[in-house]
Amino acid sequence: MSIPSAPWSSWLPNVPSGSDFVLRNAHVPACCVHGAGDLAIDHDGLSFVDIEIRTGKVSSVTPASSSSSISSSTLPQVDVDGGMVFPTFVDLHTHIDKGHTCERSRNQSGSLAGADDSCAKDERHWTKEDVYTRMEFSLKCAYAHGTSAIRTHLMSNATQGALVWPVFKELREKWKGRIELQGVALTILRFFRDETEAAKLADLVKKNGGILGAAVSCTDRGGYADDVYTTCLDDMDALLDTVFRLAKERDLDLDFHVDENGNEASKGLLHIARASARNAFTGRVVCGHCCSLAAQSPGELHKICLEAKKANITVVSLPIVNQWLQNRDVRGISTPTRRGVTTMKELDDAGVSVCLASDNTRDQFYGYGDLDMLEIFGQGCKIGHLDRPISHWPLSVTSRPANVMGLGDAHGRVVVGGVANLVVFRGRRYSEILSRPQHDRLVLRDGRPLPCGVPDYRELDDMCANGMVGSGGVKRGRGGA
Ligand SMILES: [Zn+2]
Repeated sequence: MSIPSAPWSSWLPNVPSGSDFVLRNAHVPACCVHGAGDLAIDHDGLSFVDIEIRTGKVSSVTPASSSSSISSSTLPQVDVDGGMVFPTFVDLHTHIDKGHTCERSRNQSGSLAGADDSCAKDERHWTKEDVYTRMEFSLKCAYAHGTSAIRTHLMSNATQGALVWPVFKELREKWKGRIELQGVALTILRFFRDETEAAKLADLVKKNGGILGAAVSCTDRGGYADDVYTTCLDDMDALLDTVFRLAKERDLDLDFHVDENGNEASKGLLHIARASARNAFTGRVVCGHCCSLAAQSPGELHKICLEAKKANITVVSLPIVNQWLQNRDVRGISTPTRRGVTTMKELDDAGVSVCLASDNTRDQFYGYGDLDMLEIFGQGCKIGHLDRPISHWPLSVTSRPANVMGLGDAHGRVVVGGVANLVVFRGRRYSEILSRPQHDRLVLRDGRPLPCGVPDYRELDDMCANGMVGSGGVKRGRGGA
């Protein structure tokens, strides 16, 4: 008897139906393995191992027994022939409430300003059914790719917030055990000038078990006086104090969009680190983007990295979206020359926990993406030159985001005694898994293969195909005006 694995995983012999078996001859990033004793590690930070799985848990990780034809274990064996194995992924920064709206509300210029404009125009399509269907579609994609936890930012103005948060709660409950879902209130720093409204939002976040957020120095003009939305030069620190106070009073964690530009004047991360210290904040703080660190002088960069470390801030880089939006010429004439991602290596050297995440998928801020964390990891490594050697960087998409999301000691890790949530790739080395898409991966949850693949985009056609010309002409979504 065997459970058929997902059709695209046909390269692997079917995994035995009882959940007890041995994954033989796997390459696993050594930094992801806990409780296994000494394992040899190669130049890429990989160990060659057998992983024994009993009752849905990892019962042992031992050096691969490939030298003998039969493993010492008496359990059924699945030989992955050198394929790489990761723990399931954790995606720390997404926007799944906006996902898959890129065709019906197109960002014509592809710029950050164009994204803000077209995103606001998309609001007319938002109904409960629309948001629910798109969000769940994203969860299905991520789940099939091997992700077990997602944090999403949620539009939280009065009308969209009232719609989105209940949908988020419903889906969080429905997907519990498959994807742990967290929500962040997405708003801008200026919003916190109205303390009554800000307190109302903080209460809503608390009631829904969410995280408080704000965009700080995060437009194309971030750091300058004319950015009256997210920089608010005159009272930036006072507004940040309000954010931290509201969070502290309610025991909320914080998650900011920060410095999404290439301006040397943009130092939102520094202001947030100082606000955290000033307010003696003990909750968890995540800062996303932080692109303008790349525009700082070496001395200033070092100073900001140290202050971020002192404030125990986790930085999440969103490299693919940064490559798409940063330094884009709205006229479409010039090639981008300053496509800043944050200074991942310098932050890492300073001891800051650095993560990689998806950010937007198929919306106005990024017209592509499928919540595939292998793609994010691979692009992050290539864009950030994290690959000579890759060594500990798998932590950026596994245990580091799991830690700051408070998911426990076993999530995003291959732990002896921990649940067997694993992603098994056909590719045997980084040069193989980061070259071909690996869509034929096998995802194991509780030691069992997922019997599903990614959903078909056509499932969304009723909602999201506005503007797409097909055989039936221009389709109109039911959420449209
Ligand atoms: Zn974002």
